[in-house]
Amino acid sequence: MTRAWLIGAGPGDVELMTLKATRALAQADVILVDDLVNPDVLRFARADASIVYVGKRGGHPSTPQEGIVAQMLDHLHAGRSVARLKGGDPFVFGRGGEEQQALHAAGIEVEIVSGITAGIAAPAAIGIPVTHRDHAQGVIFVTGHGAGSSEPDWGALAATHMTLVIYMGMRRLNDIVSALLAAGMRADTPCAAIESATRPEQRHALSTLGEFADAVARAGLGSPAIVVIGGVASLALARAAAASSSDAASSPDAK
Ligand code: SAH
Repeated sequence: MTRAWLIGAGPGDVELMTLKATRALAQADVILVDDLVNPDVLRFARADASIVYVGKRGGHPSTPQEGIVAQMLDHLHAGRSVARLKGGDPFVFGRGGEEQQALHAAGIEVEIVSGITAGIAAPAAIGIPVTHRDHAQGVIFVTGHGAGSSEPDWGALAATHMTLVIYMGMRRLNDIVSALLAAGMRADTPCAAIESATRPEQRHALSTLGEFADAVARAGLGSPAIVVIGGVASLALARAAAASSSDAASSPDAK
């Protein structure tokens, strides 16, 4: 029987992919791979599986969304099972929902394999618990990508006093910070940006809202990165301070 899966590959570290994802990958005839997926996860694919990269990084134009769905349908109609592999969780941004709708419209059931989303894993990778009860009653996942009429209402978000976890926010970081400050969010609100979380090249910047855009620019951080705004980000600050003081203590110069 042919099957279709929409699989979350997790944030990057291969060990953060689910067992269910590895099992589905091992069954698929064809695997369509997104940008943000760590190619190392393909070690779970069959040796004879055909692997198709549909991401837009690396200088190649991205495959249009309709093109991806059309490819999936072609393979499925030809009797081949298809795994669509996406970074993080397939239903958190990244258009997994649209792909499911398109497959349903074509009469195809698709199995959803959840993954660990970057919005939780990236903060955790530097010690930030996004819902620590001393700091926030909840967390809001929001895209920083929207512009014009699809711009999130930053003032309304600031008023919730919840942790803001921003996906795709790096390009418009200056505007986002200005909008939050203009909405009355305090300039000393702790902030973090984590680039390429859970991968060997992971880097981050910690700052306060007032200085955040400068700190991120100084650190040279770019996409893909998660931005965390709110009291919980201070827990990373504390951890980073502990790490640097223990580094100092263990360095030869400090003895
Ligand atoms: N479905 C994905 C999100 C896709 S949107 C998920 O659940 O994680 C793409 C955005 O996700 C990027 O712009 C970035 O904000 C974030 N992202 C994905 N992987 C990341 C990583 N390893 N480190 C930091 N941010 C990441």
